[in-house]
Amino acid sequence: MRLIKYIVVHCTATPPETKIENIEHYWKEKLGWKNPGYHYIIKRDGDIINLFPEEKPSNGVKGHNQVSIHISYIGGIDKDGRPVDNRTEAQKHAMFNKLIALSEKYPRATILGHRDLSTDKNSDGIIEPVEWVKHCPSFDVKEWLRNYTPFDLAA
Ligand SMILES: [Zn+2]
Repeated sequence: MRLIKYIVVHCTATPPETKIENIEHYWKEKLGWKNPGYHYIIKRDGDIINLFPEEKPSNGVKGHNQVSIHISYIGGIDKDGRPVDNRTEAQKHAMFNKLIALSEKYPRATILGHRDLSTDKNSDGIIEPVEWVKHCPSFDVKEWLRNYTPFDLAA
């Protein structure tokens, strides 16, 4: 089994209605990737699609793929292409449960956002917005995990 150091959260940075087939087509045809960008992708309705076995590295963050599991939600930009956290409640719920399950499977792995793997240019120990290579996943993963209360599906 691979050593997993990071469970990395992404957004697809596409319009919310984008189909997974189109994203996969983009990876293969435009980027020439053999492997998909993520292991898991979360649809707007909360369905989680497994695109690739966890045992194999996917293409989420250059330089970190060998030690990462990548999980993404469809969305993450507004109609003008600006970063926005537009996850549906179903996506948040599915993401939360999946991250809990993955952290139980890989207890030593750190859960973080793609942008948190940017280089700490001024070496102050904090990855600041100015240092983000990308805005992905358009929200603060650690803060969200601390504050998220799963909504009551039964209510
Ligand atoms: Zn990303």
